[in-house]
Amino acid sequence: MKDDKTLLKQILGYAAVSLIVLLLFNALIMPSISRNSITKTNYSFFLQQIDSGNVNKVDITNDEIRFEVTTENGDKKVYSTGTMDDPELVSRLYEQGDIVFTENHEKTNVLLEFLLSWILPLVLLMIFWNILMKGMSKRLGGSNAMSFGKSNAKIYVKAQTGKTFADVAGQDEAKEALVEIVDFLHNPEKYAEIGADLPKGALLVGPPGTGKTLLAQAVAGEANVPFFSISGSEFVEMFVGMGAAKVRDLFKQANEKAPCIVFIDEIDTIGKKRDGSINGNDEREQTLNQLLTEMDGFNGKKGVVILAATNRPESLDPALLRPGRFDRRIPAELPDLAGRESILKVHAAKIKTVENIDYNAIARATAGASGAELANIINEAALRAVRSGRKEVIQSDLEESVEVVIAGYQRKNAVISQKEKEIIAYHEIGHALVAAKQKNSAPVHKITIIPRTSGALGYTMQVDEGEKFLMSKEEALARLATLTGGRSAEELIFNSCTSGASNDIEQATKLARAMVTRYGMSSSFDMIALETVTNQYLGGDTSLACSPETAAKIDEEVNNIVKMAHERAVQILTENIDKLHELAQFLLEKETITGEEFMEILNKQPIPAL
Ligand code: ADP
Ligand code: MG
Ligand code: ZN
Repeated sequence: MKDDKTLLKQILGYAAVSLIVLLLFNALIMPSISRNSITKTNYSFFLQQIDSGNVNKVDITNDEIRFEVTTENGDKKVYSTGTMDDPELVSRLYEQGDIVFTENHEKTNVLLEFLLSWILPLVLLMIFWNILMKGMSKRLGGSNAMSFGKSNAKIYVKAQTGKTFADVAGQDEAKEALVEIVDFLHNPEKYAEIGADLPKGALLVGPPGTGKTLLAQAVAGEANVPFFSISGSEFVEMFVGMGAAKVRDLFKQANEKAPCIVFIDEIDTIGKKRDGSINGNDEREQTLNQLLTEMDGFNGKKGVVILAATNRPESLDPALLRPGRFDRRIPAELPDLAGRESILKVHAAKIKTVENIDYNAIARATAGASGAELANIINEAALRAVRSGRKEVIQSDLEESVEVVIAGYQRKNAVISQKEKEIIAYHEIGHALVAAKQKNSAPVHKITIIPRTSGALGYTMQVDEGEKFLMSKEEALARLATLTGGRSAEELIFNSCTSGASNDIEQATKLARAMVTRYGMSSSFDMIALETVTNQYLGGDTSLACSPETAAKIDEEVNNIVKMAHERAVQILTENIDKLHELAQFLLEKETITGEEFMEILNKQPIPAL
């Protein structure tokens, strides 16, 4: 697609330039060539000259009269003037006797003029473009700019991506696997000696933003061999057969340049499972079939390695995944605590910061964030520093930008009534208090009631001390109680409920449902998978795998679990109602309080009544 568009643009560009050159040529140069000896004059001068007998030759065309005048010193001079509706002109000329006059002067001249002014420059231009195009296609490595059905894979050599493995933080397993591939391309003998074949293809899988494309670019930077990079969507064409032709061309080029690496990004666009449906997508299937054939076709020892990336591995055609094609799967998972910290540091190295920044604290506050989000956090922090007129990024810039990435910007001029503010403050303290009063809950880090552009009117941030990989049933229940804590506080204090809890409800339902259907944490079902995750890396959609009767039971069970958590939250808040009031008032006044301030008030002994 891109190819055809640029081609069209080029052609249009040539046409425009040619037209302009032609017009300029005709407007500026031609008149001075063909009329250099002709002087313009007016009609009365013409008549005057006739009457005084100086004119000896006249040519009359539709819109011009040219006449030759003999001047006093005997020279002949040609003048030109416009025509007039002058019926007496002919008789006037005739009366003078010795004037030769014709109408429509020299036809051949017109033809010659046309050839000279339009055809000749056009021919010259075409020759010129031809030379230019030849020069260009030589520079593009011999490919003809006019060809269709060619792959337009970009070829990278080392200097061009500028990325190395040092730019990729964390992802150690993925790097290790890729380093081996790079090593093979450099010393194939080492592997041939023992008789080992290198994997033909490796598939990078993982959620968006975990650095799959970045890893491939790093391989390009380290490998020192030609690196073809193409995105799956570039194979998708309007016409059946075009994508397959592109695949053929890509592999032909790769074979010529071996050893080399071919990287196909977002391979799921062409590698989707072929299904038996009649109205299947012909073009896509042909492209996939061609890819399968090509991958079988080349010799594993020759040194063409195919890398591909996707975040939907489950949608790929099984034929693509069998050994001999993409027989290696390299996971690029969301980074853990240490990974997040090192990603933050890699990106922070590109900006100016004060010394002693606590990256660990930022990494702890960003559980579940991808590499791309972390890179974004660093950039937001730098922007914030500029906005506040500082030359370096400080810790609070980073902390604020974490919240910007999670919840959006502060809505400074949102007008919220005092009554609503009060409800929001109690709601948030409700969450925090329930969290703090339970054993299996992460500590409160920050509470705020400043509204955000994401629509959140306030939120309570909890930050775990370390990294958690498992969630126990107790922790899940504690989390549910915390989620219901906001609504519980509203009910206790205002005796009503608001729509503000909708997000809490959503999260609580999702967690309780997973406990029942996937974690085996309910009392009525044993270790039974009632739901399966279909879209692991993109949102984690699930589909039910049980009878409708069981589905009804699941709903009931989910409701029971949430209900119990809700009751527990109400109980905790009732027991601590004085603290709830005190903390809510404090939050209303300050709008944002830290975890320490919160704990200090919470742990303060009440002044004993006398
Ligand atoms: P995807 O997995 O969706 O292809 P990308 O490779 O395009 O993700 O990553 C997007 C950006 O996120 C990168 O350009 C980089 O700035 C940042 N990033 C992601 N993962 C890492 C990582 N492990 N180390 C450093 N930067 C990373
Ligand atoms: Mg990508
Ligand atoms: Zn809430």
